[in-house]
Amino acid sequence: MITQQEAYETMMSEARPMGSERVGLDDALGRVLAEDVRSDMDMPPFIKSAMDGYACRRKDLANKLKVVEVLKAGAVPGKTIATNECAKIMTGGMVPEGADCVIVVEEVNVLDTDTVQFNGESTRDNVCQKGEDMQVDDVVLTAGIRLGPQHIAMMASVGCVSPQVVCRPRVGILATGDELVEPDVIPDVSQIRTSNSHQLIAQVRACGAIPTYYGIARDTKESLDAAVKTAMSDCDLVLLTGGVSMGDLDLVPGIMKANKVNILFEEIAVQPGKPTTFGVSEEAACVGLPGSPVAAFTQFELLVKPFIFSMMWHEYRPGHLRLPMAENRTRARALRENWFPFKLTDDGAVLPCEFHGSAHVESICEAYGLAHMPVGMSTIEAGALVSVRIL
Ligand code: AMP
Ligand code: MG
Repeated sequence: MITQQEAYETMMSEARPMGSERVGLDDALGRVLAEDVRSDMDMPPFIKSAMDGYACRRKDLANKLKVVEVLKAGAVPGKTIATNECAKIMTGGMVPEGADCVIVVEEVNVLDTDTVQFNGESTRDNVCQKGEDMQVDDVVLTAGIRLGPQHIAMMASVGCVSPQVVCRPRVGILATGDELVEPDVIPDVSQIRTSNSHQLIAQVRACGAIPTYYGIARDTKESLDAAVKTAMSDCDLVLLTGGVSMGDLDLVPGIMKANKVNILFEEIAVQPGKPTTFGVSEEAACVGLPGSPVAAFTQFELLVKPFIFSMMWHEYRPGHLRLPMAENRTRARALRENWFPFKLTDDGAVLPCEFHGSAHVESICEAYGLAHMPVGMSTIEAGALVSVRIL
């Protein structure tokens, strides 16, 4: 059995990069940048006032100053500041030639309509130098960044109105199991609703990929095979849930093989998620996730999410922290590594969520992240540091 880390490395080495396309600036949120963005100008593009005040010469600070013009932001100065002169200036305004500082309004006495005097002891320059934030042709964003609102602002300020971004992978989702019904159906006595299908649709969408749902395949070779064939031919990646364990009707790995999927692993030494199966065909990559909802959720986080991001040229690096345990945690066996959902206490400690087993979806609803117990560790004491991953 391979380790979680080996499973991760195997999958990452199989991620096939998507192509790229141009999109409008306001459609780029959540997409991954496919090429570096460079600045088309210096920023600020001129010497800019950082304050509301009066632009003048530092060596005249002790003198009365004549106000020669008023400069709003956006105005071009018409005058050069000479000895004992100043220009009233607003934040963001162009500092006139001759001036080397801006004295702030709060430190100025207005003597009459066009005469002022500095009343402070000393002043900073209160100006932003041309090009101090960035210069023309500087790389301001690098390929591989996943674009958030702040990156959209960056692109807007350098005139990058149609960024080149990575195409979104199409990800097929297929639930398997005779016991499953869709959420809008009231289950019979022996049935449950498929929560994994919709969890996975949401998880895929949250990564910025395009989910396509193929419904519930029944636990027969015919039903599974037909659905897998369609999904593999439509999609870049296919996610199945259920049917990967050791039961008589756990047909998924066999169906994957029958569809020319080269299986690269069928078991991981982890809890939850041991039966997670992965393989690739010429058409698409294929992951068989466990049916147990918490296991499907966890293995999506640990494996599928970084894989999807890697297809989109983005190196996914979740926040990894070491935090103290709020209480003791013990497990019966420590043959596999373990990831468990936890809440954060008010003083920043790791409190395991109430957990009844891998079908207990509620346990992940309140989770702040997943915490880690390595192989061989059956107890963590309160106060000991534990590795966690923020969701
Ligand atoms: P399996 O891996 O098919 O043996 O399923 C393991 C457990 O997960 C069983 O209790 C299933 O009923 C449950 N399960 C399977 N698929 C889903 C699903 N799509 N949504 C919620 N629970 C599921
Ligand atoms: Mg099943």
